[in-house]
Amino acid sequence: MSDVLKLASELISRRSLTPDDAGCQALLAERLEKHGFTLEWMPHGGVLNLWARRGTRPPLLCFAGHTDVVPTGAESAWTSPPFIPTVKDGVLYGRGAADMKGGLAAMTVAAERFVHAHPDHEGSIAFLLTSDEEGVAVNGTVKVIETLEKRGDKIHYAIVGEPSSRTVLGDEFKIGRRGSLTGRLKVHGVQGHVAYPHLADNPVHRTAPALTELVSTEWDKGNAHFPPSSLQIANINAGTGANNVIPGELSVEFNIRFNTEWTVERLQACISAIFERHKLNYTLDWNLSGLPFLTRSDGALVDAVQIAIRDVLGVETKPSTSGGTSDARFIAPTGSEVIELGPLNATIHKVNECVGVEDLDRLAAVYERILDLLLLEEE
Ligand SMILES: [Zn+2]
Repeated sequence: MSDVLKLASELISRRSLTPDDAGCQALLAERLEKHGFTLEWMPHGGVLNLWARRGTRPPLLCFAGHTDVVPTGAESAWTSPPFIPTVKDGVLYGRGAADMKGGLAAMTVAAERFVHAHPDHEGSIAFLLTSDEEGVAVNGTVKVIETLEKRGDKIHYAIVGEPSSRTVLGDEFKIGRRGSLTGRLKVHGVQGHVAYPHLADNPVHRTAPALTELVSTEWDKGNAHFPPSSLQIANINAGTGANNVIPGELSVEFNIRFNTEWTVERLQACISAIFERHKLNYTLDWNLSGLPFLTRSDGALVDAVQIAIRDVLGVETKPSTSGGTSDARFIAPTGSEVIELGPLNATIHKVNECVGVEDLDRLAAVYERILDLLLLEEE
């Protein structure tokens, strides 16, 4: 059994349902410490976070990731128990195999091999681990970054090991993400009898044309790096359950994934204007879960990733900004170059989540090659 497979399996067998770490970080910490990393535990609000660093010189290359996993759903729907790592036909099954215990195992083994081969490497290597990514993500990476910023620790390059590949390992890596903004709309009407509509004010009837406009709006056409912004209605509720009552209130929850063509303020104003135009009596609350970010596409990190993937995998990789948000959004604002590179994302959050055993080893080799390119003196 390869070292990466063994470590990934050990992580999967720890039942780390978000935000529980279940001993995953301790396992990685012990290995890193043996390889010259200094450990700093940074717990916050009951969430376990680890900052482990080897070396004091710039540039600092940081591997970042989360040990928590999403719930399994009905375990009976899995072909093997989700927390018992199971290899079948060259594929490792288990909750977190792809998101992202496979990536954590690969980056840990890559760092171990690199420092073993080059104990006096240039710069520094760090690991930023959290168990609060899949949940609300308020006590994890964002808090560690705050601490580092306060004391002037600068991350120059960050590699987040999230599953970024689409059909073959390394075909895509993320150089940015769209932002995510949720709106909670409440439309106030007047409840009444359906037979006496003149005595009531039906918020469903008032809101329907506004929602039509909301969902048919073309927000932008995307740009060189980002797909178009898109809005989806996620929840809609009105009615008392009876068929003879005009409801007094309607609530709608929508989420917009927006690109760098927008500021949050402009987007909010544009959406509110639609409700104003339709003369709704409404209240609207916003929740911003992440701003869009884009890393420098001409930076040393993006270069190194492309070369490493070509060298190790023979794949011409494509920088992408699609998909959901990740903890990279907390690292990017510090000015760090940050990318996401990891295994295939086809099964993440699903039943029978899995990762190719060979891909685990090949991913470790790619990470190690990136270390070579960024932290070794050119000969
Ligand atoms: Zn993840």
